[in-house]
Amino acid sequence: SWSSVPLAPPDSIFKLSAAYKADDYPQKVNLGVGAYRDDNNKPWVLPVVKKATGLLLNDPSLDHEYLPITGLPEFTSAAAKLILGAESAAIREGRTVSVQTISGTGANHLGALFLSRFYNWNGPKQIYLSDPTWANHYAIFKNVGIEPINYPYYDAKTIGLNFNGFLSSLDSAPEGSVFLLHACAHNPTGVDPTSEQWEKLADAIMKRNHFAFFDCAYQGFASGDLDRDASAVRYFEQRGVPMLVCQSFAKNAGLYGERVGCLHVVGATKDAADRVKSQLSVLQRSEISNPPSHGARLVSLILTDASLFEEWKRDIQTMAQRIISMRKELHRLLTEELHTPGNWDHIVNQIGMFSFTGINPAQCEELVKGAHVYLTGNGRISMAGLNTHNIRYFAESLDKVVRG
Ligand code: PMP
Repeated sequence: SWSSVPLAPPDSIFKLSAAYKADDYPQKVNLGVGAYRDDNNKPWVLPVVKKATGLLLNDPSLDHEYLPITGLPEFTSAAAKLILGAESAAIREGRTVSVQTISGTGANHLGALFLSRFYNWNGPKQIYLSDPTWANHYAIFKNVGIEPINYPYYDAKTIGLNFNGFLSSLDSAPEGSVFLLHACAHNPTGVDPTSEQWEKLADAIMKRNHFAFFDCAYQGFASGDLDRDASAVRYFEQRGVPMLVCQSFAKNAGLYGERVGCLHVVGATKDAADRVKSQLSVLQRSEISNPPSHGARLVSLILTDASLFEEWKRDIQTMAQRIISMRKELHRLLTEELHTPGNWDHIVNQIGMFSFTGINPAQCEELVKGAHVYLTGNGRISMAGLNTHNIRYFAESLDKVVRG
């Protein structure tokens, strides 16, 4: 049996990691992986997470009972304040619903499932995704019967934002359409709208009664500042844009494997929020029954203890600043030392874990095959894979393929 099941291709990022692992070239570089690495290319357990783990281990009141269906209440309410802001009117007025999810992926899934069932669809179920976007978005929405369609986002000519294309697709989409927005540190391009552009986007969304589906996987990780990276989400909430937010603690707390996340839905009234919460509970029950406790306890401790929170902010700075310094160094090497043909300002203008280099698929292949530098075929590099030991080798390899 099962002999007629079609064989699916392996996930391209995980395939790239496997090829990197199997390569015994000493100077090999892995720029595919979407996880933070320290200057020695090692995973980094945040010191604040180590501390919080110690506190949990020594807490005799903890047991292994089920959490409530919607998650650990201290965690979900602290997580809501972190993304929406302590001053959020929606929180104060009891109009938000926050449900603990299986990291950001689970938040996207639960948000998608909820919309699929309860959004006031005027026509076919569709979601507008930026072109390009995190590849998993397509699968997540298709899984619940929502058809993904693209809106223009990245402009290959400027290696920046196609703002006019984005705006005109907001204007021309059917009234009440759902748009997925990356809250900060757009994956895969590293290109974000400016605050003035976010204002215009909010105007266009309000004018057409669209719905904002925010995906926030990099709060704090992008700029080093938790508030700055939440500013688009908070601005939309203040403007009264109908919205939900998917939140992940994988990157900013280095808790990739713990699967800590949250889905926040903002309602017009407390009554609306209560209705949403009742249905999210029903959906969550059938999907996972109850979310896992350990990671949520860790994050809850960090968010609610003032000194742990300060320490976390310092750890976030450590990660964000290392990445920003790699951007500056790569830019310096290409422009000042190697005089690589072309303009490389986008390397320092882009934000977050990823950078879109602008090189073509053939050049990417040459980097993989010729230089043992592993990256996806779209020219995206994970800045976290660069460090003071390999950045010169990478810059020289890039220079070579650009010169052809
Ligand atoms: N959304 C985006 C845009 C992402 O880049 C990621 C991480 N790659 C996620 C969601 C979800 O990641 P996780 O499920 O590990 O929180």
